[in-house]
Amino acid sequence: MWYCIKCGKPTPKEKLIRGYCPDCFVKYNDVFKKPLEVKVTICPICNSWQYRGEWSPPLSIPEIIEYILVHEASKSLIEGAELKSLYLDDWSQLDPSIVNVRAVLEVSVDGKSVSITREFTAKITYHKCPRCLARSIGKYSHLVQIRFTSRDFTRELVRDVVKTATSGINPDLIININELPEGVDIELDNPTIARRIIEVLTRKYSARITSSFKPTRYDSSSGKWLGVVTYVARIPVFKEEDIVLYKGKLGVVKLVDKNKLLIMNLETNTLEEVDLGLYWKNQLKHPTRIEKEEYIVREVVDNKILVENPSTGEKRVLKPSRLTNNLKPGDRIILIRADDIESFVPMEKGG
Ligand SMILES: [Zn+2]
Ligand SMILES: [Zn+2]
Repeated sequence: MWYCIKCGKPTPKEKLIRGYCPDCFVKYNDVFKKPLEVKVTICPICNSWQYRGEWSPPLSIPEIIEYILVHEASKSLIEGAELKSLYLDDWSQLDPSIVNVRAVLEVSVDGKSVSITREFTAKITYHKCPRCLARSIGKYSHLVQIRFTSRDFTRELVRDVVKTATSGINPDLIININELPEGVDIELDNPTIARRIIEVLTRKYSARITSSFKPTRYDSSSGKWLGVVTYVARIPVFKEEDIVLYKGKLGVVKLVDKNKLLIMNLETNTLEEVDLGLYWKNQLKHPTRIEKEEYIVREVVDNKILVENPSTGEKRVLKPSRLTNNLKPGDRIILIRADDIESFVPMEKGG
C-alpha cells in the first residue's frame, strides 16, 4: 500500500497522482499554469459575440462563457493534464459586465481522472457587431434590385419573389429589405448571399441580371476601392387572362407558376406549357395592340364558314377548326387581332 504525501491516507498506487491522493491533489495543486481569463465582447443588439478577434453567431451568455472556458482551460492546463469535459454548474450576473460562474471540470492528470469545481469571473464588454453597426448606419456592400418588365405587377407577386429568393437565408445576413413602388431592394453585406439570391431569381423567375459597381471611397490600407455592387434583376410579368403572342401564336394565359405559364392556344384550343424565359428571346410577349370585333355566322357549308361583322358589314370566310367546328348560322364569334395575328374565338356561352 502507498500513502498520500499530504494527508498520509493509504491509497492504491494506481490512484496516486504525483504522490497525492485524488482529494489532496485537487486541494493542494492547481491544474492551471496561470489564472484563466474570460473576456468577451457581446453585441447588445443581436447577441453575437467576439472572442479572439472573431465574431460568432448569437448564443446565450452562459453558453458563450462555457465555450470560452473550454478553450481557455484546454490551453492553460499544466503539463500532463488534459481537459475531458467542462460544464457550468451555476452562474450569476452581478452587473452587465461581470458574470460569476461555477464550472465543473473533468481533467485527466497523467491518465488519472479528477473532478474539479472552480469559480471564474467573466468580464463582458458590449459593442455592436459589424453587421449591426452596418445596419444601424444603413451601410451595405451589395444591393439586389428586383424589378419587373411591366408596371402591371401585383404586391402578391413581389412577396412571393422575396419569399422564394430569401428562403433558407438567415435573416441576420440580410441588412434590409425595402419595398418600393417599382419593386424591392435587398441590402446585403455578403457577396455569397447576393449571388445566391441572384441565382434563385434567374432559375425560378427567369430574371435577367445586370450588375454594376459604384465606388464610394478608396481604402488605402487595402489599395482597393470600396463601394456597392448592384444587381438589377428584371422579372418578366404575365398575368392570368393576359392575351399573349408566343412563338408566333396567339394565346391566353391561364396559369402562372413562377417561370412556367400555361397558355391556351387560341387556334387549337389546347393548353401549352410555356417557359417564361422565352420573353428574353422575344418569343413571348404582350401584343402592342389588341382589337376585338364581333362577327355573326351567316352560312356554314362543307369546308367554309361565312361570317359577317354586323356593324361594318365586312364579310370573312373561315376554315373550320377545332374551335369553330360546331358553329351554326346565327352564332356569334369574336375576332381577336393582336399585332398581325388573328384568331376567331366563339363567344362564351351566355357571354
Ligand atoms: Zn491526501
Ligand atoms: Zn449584432
